[in-house]
Amino acid sequence: MGLTGEELERFVVGDLKQSRFRAGQIAGWLVRGAEIGEMTNLSAALRAQLNEIAVANPVRIMDSFKSKLDETEKFLYALEDGNLIEGVLMRYHHGDTLCVSTQVGCRMGCAFCASTLEGKVRNLTSGEILGQVVAANRHIRAADPERRVHNIVLMGSGEPLDNYDNVVKFLRRVNDPKGLNISLRNISLSTCGLVRRMYDFAKEGLPVTLSLSLHAPNDEIRRRIMPVANAYSYEEVLTACKYYIEQTGRRVIFEYALIKDLNSDVRHAEELARRLRGMRCHVNLIPLNDVKERKLEAPDRRTVEAFQKRLELKHISATVRREMGTDIEGACGQLRRKVLGGQDIG
Ligand code: SAH
Repeated sequence: MGLTGEELERFVVGDLKQSRFRAGQIAGWLVRGAEIGEMTNLSAALRAQLNEIAVANPVRIMDSFKSKLDETEKFLYALEDGNLIEGVLMRYHHGDTLCVSTQVGCRMGCAFCASTLEGKVRNLTSGEILGQVVAANRHIRAADPERRVHNIVLMGSGEPLDNYDNVVKFLRRVNDPKGLNISLRNISLSTCGLVRRMYDFAKEGLPVTLSLSLHAPNDEIRRRIMPVANAYSYEEVLTACKYYIEQTGRRVIFEYALIKDLNSDVRHAEELARRLRGMRCHVNLIPLNDVKERKLEAPDRRTVEAFQKRLELKHISATVRREMGTDIEGACGQLRRKVLGGQDIG
């Protein structure tokens, strides 16, 4: 899974001493999530040889949990080195959306996020990011051949722009017509705002939707919950977003987790609207998912609605994100932590 089409060809011809067309056969199997043993148009000898030196997909669904409240499904994946990552599959009317992880853990240190509690363990390779999509696809197709992952959000554990090269490689590969062939327009990349990397990313020419985790109306509040705000100012982050909009012609989505007594007052909505005025953007309001280890909590329903209404009144389009999978630890990093902590699930 870690090899591009060209790299696979070199491996097959150079290392395995097989003819080139075998690479095409193997690539076809890999996309479908087959194990080496299932690649039945390869000889038994070749399969045995491959099995000794390679794995098809370095990501294996170890467990899955279906929500009883909606059709959300949560996956716990095992990697070859024993690390665990997680992912969520959400069913929307416009197709299945898979949330994928880009790192084991995270080092950004946001105060409300479970993924970062034990820091970053390591980056995922492009094959491990792609492998999540392939594994999820195989899983859902087994239940219903009509279904497949249609949209991808890079919103699982990890900071995608802190694993830049692997993430960009993943994006190019997932879009490959000979591979999964998922349109980049159906992919969102979420970042806490690594400004220098945002400029690099804007220049890649990939029509991916940028989601920016803003979570505050100003520097003062943002610095209280997001350490990255000490490295880059609010103004710098917004300027980088404007550059992304210019370069790609796409609107930016601002994620704003509403936290009780911190950033959810209507005066914060007013301030946010002033900062975003004139930008081609949309605000996604997320009532905070309580993380047991953190003292922060979501405001009440009325506060959330008042915040959204005030933004709309100030001509900033805003929606409240529908909560899904709340019974299966749907929020970032929650499931992995629960399993590592040895607690029972569901
Ligand atoms: N590192 C990237 C992507 C991963 S998180 C980023 O920071 O954007 C995806 C989104 O979930 C981010 O907007 C993140 O801030 C948000 N998030 C994390 N923990 C949350 C929680 N407990 N409640 C609500 N949103 C949360």
